Amino acid sequence: MPSRPDNIKIPSLYGTLYVVATPIGNLEDMTYRAVNVLKQVDLIAAEDTRHSKILLNHYGVETRLISCHEYNEADKTPLFISHLKNGLNIALISDAGTPTISDPGYNLIRSVSKENIRVIPIPGCCAAIAGLSVSGLPTDAFHFSGFLPKKTQKLQQTLELLKNQKPTLIFYESPRRIKILIGTMIRVFGDRQACMAREITKLHEEYSRGNLSEILRALNEKEIIKGECCLFVQGCGSEDTIMDENVLEKIIRETLASTDLGTSELARQIAKKTGFHKKQVYEKILKLLC
Ligand code: SAM
Repeated sequence: MPSRPDNIKIPSLYGTLYVVATPIGNLEDMTYRAVNVLKQVDLIAAEDTRHSKILLNHYGVETRLISCHEYNEADKTPLFISHLKNGLNIALISDAGTPTISDPGYNLIRSVSKENIRVIPIPGCCAAIAGLSVSGLPTDAFHFSGFLPKKTQKLQQTLELLKNQKPTLIFYESPRRIKILIGTMIRVFGDRQACMAREITKLHEEYSRGNLSEILRALNEKEIIKGECCLFVQGCGSEDTIMDENVLEKIIRETLASTDLGTSELARQIAKKTGFHKKQVYEKILKLLC
């Protein structure tokens, strides 16, 4: 086993902070090592203790739980550091997947490692990596963006900054906002190839692959979108990328073929679905109708 570099002196009496990945849906996606670590540590710091109880009961883990979530992480950090310095071993878990990946833990890990206390990952599930692996998009380079801002202007600005990134882009989003995200993306990026992964490892697991506009159209056909979603979008510079104006034209042509709505109402509906401005859609419809 390789030895630790000499410049890091870890007092041998200190405990270790284990950062343990847990399943993202299917309880069976837990490694043997993760179960053993959770059984053997002195404390488990969990995002939502009631939620984690389900997993821990499933595996017969009886270790004491302490809550550590977004709102108390900073307050609890000194206590965890003191326990670790007193030789206790602690496991950090989140509600699902890998802690710190769009989940709490970053500040705790930063503070603990500054104290020269050992921090060890126990790898396992992460929705971003699981979904990317089956997305059908390039995996040699990827850019994880997690959740984007909710406010329209900030969202657009963030997407503008990502627009020229070549790696495959990865986003987390709630089912309530996924259509807004995709619509805004079509407007900023163009109609790129993408994959939407829903409910990975769960009963209603689903992967929609195609252009962003095709995925959006499929979502618009659903009465309600349920479950957890990840979105994977091809990076800039791909041959499959169609620029904004062409995308809008394509969507209008397809919608015109299957509707008898008036121009204004049609423009309103397409603008709502795609994030294009109503005026821009309206003018484009008039041009196409001429
Ligand atoms: N730490 C987690 C990880 O390692 O993936 C992510 C936690 S973040 C709070 C939750 C988001 O992750 C969800 O809104 C969704 O975007 C994504 N996610 C988590 N589980 C998922 C699943 N089973 N299927 C699809 N996306 C999932």
